[in-house]
Amino acid sequence: MFKTPSLKPLPKQGDPRKFAQQGISLDGFVPVAELPRLAESLQETTGEIQVDLAFGISVEKKKIVTGHASAELTLVCQRCLENVKVPVKSDISLGIVWDEEGAEALPEYLDPWITGEGVADLYDMIEEEMLLSLPKVAYHEELCVDRQLFSSGKPVEVKKTKNPFQVLEQLKSSPK
Ligand SMILES: [Zn+2]
Repeated sequence: MFKTPSLKPLPKQGDPRKFAQQGISLDGFVPVAELPRLAESLQETTGEIQVDLAFGISVEKKKIVTGHASAELTLVCQRCLENVKVPVKSDISLGIVWDEEGAEALPEYLDPWITGEGVADLYDMIEEEMLLSLPKVAYHEELCVDRQLFSSGKPVEVKKTKNPFQVLEQLKSSPK
């Protein structure tokens, strides 16, 4: 078996059911730029996702793929609005199924990978998993906005959508 994970690209396609029956393991990288939906959510599309996958049969006799996908992805820091690199990791645990019905029959620890007969797009699956693992908001780990902004004047607040009750509260508590 080849053991040079970071140096070769992950194959783009493969037959997941055949892989499961043969107990195939794959590893390699996926260039972020080749995943258009993921790239759209990022500030930079450089870099690579490190992937390892192990296909097999579960104790419930389901065809499965497990593994990991991880990358440093560039998002916008919600505090300073500059770019921030965030480690994003996805633990992959999928049951390979034909349809929704098959998906519902999976044990709880498996998410469905609905795919037809024959060859499937592995990059598409990785993209989906990474999208699900993207943090909703990102921040620099260090305090990236000048402390003075916080100590003087009003703290920066996210605007809340107004509802009638809040408006009432504001009226009641408005300073005289
Ligand atoms: Zn920041």
